[in-house]
Amino acid sequence: MGLLRDLILAVVPAGVAASMERDSRAWKLTCPCGHTRSFWEIGGIRWKAAGEPRKLLRCPACGKLEWHRTHWQPEG
Ligand SMILES: [Zn+2]
Repeated sequence: MGLLRDLILAVVPAGVAASMERDSRAWKLTCPCGHTRSFWEIGGIRWKAAGEPRKLLRCPACGKLEWHRTHWQPEG
């Protein structure tokens, strides 16, 4: 997933890449146990997206495969 992201970031203009990183860091994924990560942290990109889909991911905190909640939470 990280490799695909690197490929995308390599071909888009610098301004778009920065915008993609900003958005991907603001989109958070929260496990039912409360552990939260951003799309960026898991090696993904979420850009110009709407809605709050659920994602099935392995949580590093509780170690379970759980449905994570997607929500917008900009930093700083
Ligand atoms: Zn968890």
